[in-house]
Amino acid sequence: MASIDMVNIVKRYGDGFPAVNDVSIDVQDGEFMILVGPSGCGKSTLLRMIVGLEDITSGDMVIGDRLVNDLAPRDRNLAMVFQNYALYPHLSVYENIAFPLRLAKAPDAEVDEKVRAAAKTLELEEHLERKPGNLSGGQRQRVAMGRAIVREADAFLFDEPLSNLDAKLRGQMRTEIARLQKRLGITTVYVTHDQTEAMTLGHRVAVLKRGVLQQLATPRELYEQP
Ligand code: ADP
Ligand code: ADP
Repeated sequence: MASIDMVNIVKRYGDGFPAVNDVSIDVQDGEFMILVGPSGCGKSTLLRMIVGLEDITSGDMVIGDRLVNDLAPRDRNLAMVFQNYALYPHLSVYENIAFPLRLAKAPDAEVDEKVRAAAKTLELEEHLERKPGNLSGGQRQRVAMGRAIVREADAFLFDEPLSNLDAKLRGQMRTEIARLQKRLGITTVYVTHDQTEAMTLGHRVAVLKRGVLQQLATPRELYEQP
């Protein structure tokens, strides 16, 4: 696990107004940080720069004690959890979770140990032989997180993971994500435009507007502001 320190991050696409303008956010080891703001405020750009899918125009991105500005995404050891979970429909839950270990050619005994440990944490032990198509949304979310856990990623990154769900399921998933993050204690950055998610999920909330960091505070501090 690791902290994620964004220091004076600037991103310009072309020569227009910066999409991200001198943003500094210190995500502590184990912290659940929310990035919130209206569409176009620069949240996704910031998340993509953490993962390494987008170059930084200026500033520093530090993960743990490593400056990662020039590191490829695969060398950053972060796990992006996608909105559609990106599960393989033809593979069992077991093989979906095992996937990164298979790619790394891990021995079967190690794969088995790690997959079963993750399944235990995520309460998926009884579903290991099932296919993702037969699972609930919450179970699929947990399989996606299981894949991140076996990789021993330093942090989870979520980009609006619940935006396509109906209100009821969204509420359930919110609870589930908060519970799992707390149980796993893994550094998490979560992008949303939803005020309720912003105020209920995280330890702290970073509010962005037109590329500028407006506020960085706990939900309580945000509530209590005049
Ligand atoms: P606990 O498991 O004791 O209830 P939390 O889940 O609240 O603790 O926090 C887990 C970790 O997240 C803390 O150890 C801390 O590093 C980080 N954290 C929690 N709240 C904040 C905050 N407001 N600012 C920065 N880091 C925080
Ligand atoms: P958000 O995630 O908050 O909706 P984005 O990070 O997607 O915001 O976008 C921030 C700004 O950067 C917007 O003005 C958007 O139009 C612009 N932008 C995003 N991606 C690109 C791109 N690949 N090329 C040019 N402009 C982009």
